[in-house]
Amino acid sequence: MLLPTGCAVSDAASDPLAVRVFPEPPHPYRSPFQRDLGRIIHARAFRRLAGKTQVFTHRYSDHFRSRLTHTMEVAQIARTVAVTLGLNEDLTEALALVHDIGHPPFGHAGERALDDALRHHGLRFDHNLHALRIVEHFELRYAAFRGLNLTLALREGIIKHSRDYSAAEHPELSEYLLDLRPPLEAQIIDLADEIAYLTADFDDGMEAEILDLDEIRKHVRIFEHFFVPMQAEYPDAPSKLVFNEALKRVLNALVNDLIAETGRQVKAAGVTTLDDIRNAPHRLAAFSPEMEELRLEAKRYLYANLYNCEELARDHEAAARVIAELFRAWTVDPSLLPSSYASRVQEEGAPRVAADYIAGMTDNFIMTQYEEFQNKL
Ligand code: MG
Repeated sequence: MLLPTGCAVSDAASDPLAVRVFPEPPHPYRSPFQRDLGRIIHARAFRRLAGKTQVFTHRYSDHFRSRLTHTMEVAQIARTVAVTLGLNEDLTEALALVHDIGHPPFGHAGERALDDALRHHGLRFDHNLHALRIVEHFELRYAAFRGLNLTLALREGIIKHSRDYSAAEHPELSEYLLDLRPPLEAQIIDLADEIAYLTADFDDGMEAEILDLDEIRKHVRIFEHFFVPMQAEYPDAPSKLVFNEALKRVLNALVNDLIAETGRQVKAAGVTTLDDIRNAPHRLAAFSPEMEELRLEAKRYLYANLYNCEELARDHEAAARVIAELFRAWTVDPSLLPSSYASRVQEEGAPRVAADYIAGMTDNFIMTQYEEFQNKL
């Protein structure tokens, strides 16, 4: 099922969304978004995703998702949706690969800890805004400019893929058309992200033996719906493999629903161009109401039984302690920061600079920093 062709972001180098802050000549055979995609994959911040916790730290095992493999799963899902709907595949893939680049070490516990630390200084940590700082300022690869010089479509998508920022609260983002909806390529990233982590976290949660198959079956209707026929089809298979078969179908059902419902909403709104998508009263990429209810039920189950469970609390507490103590040490004495960061303190203030330094770290690197800091005490 294809959307009207005008709904997709164009691949033309002359398109306003392909504009870069520092003009560059077009490439002889790569589209602007293929170049963005390449720049993201070659970025240091992208490589560091391999060392960042998604949900499980490495004390569990090396089989669990890292933020990098999660990112690749999002890209795979988002591309399927984009291709099926006839959207711009390269732009979608690039947006998926960059979507978590602003995340600090230690998963959401790390993000909360960094945000708490900044609040004491009247500031906030926001991983989307941090991702923009990474691609605009922190990546140093090119002699001609700082950052990756990504197209406007990429930068707008980084800001708007998962939430709407108000123009009044964020005047610095005025370039990103805050009063308009983002293109569908950006809208589907957040939903592909939801599909990817929801299904992956059931899988990893089972592997970690924190989640229980019978309990999931009792409380997560969408899982039970697919588990029953799989159990009938494979009565002698090990239960984890039957679980996998059911979970794969859950993922597939979510993707199918997202494709169908987005197509339905575009049609119902009479939308035929990117301008229509931007001016629509709400985002048109969505799950159907029935699927949304099932998805939220599954998500609530993960919050209650996995994300906030006792077993992981120990990791969350350690993450909060490490981040809070290092943040305090570097804010009290910014001369302890590496010189490239210390030199920015005058202009941006120690709290923001310390947070930028911490946010870029992998789990391993911050633990090494913490051990060094403790040895000096
Ligand atoms: Mg994500």
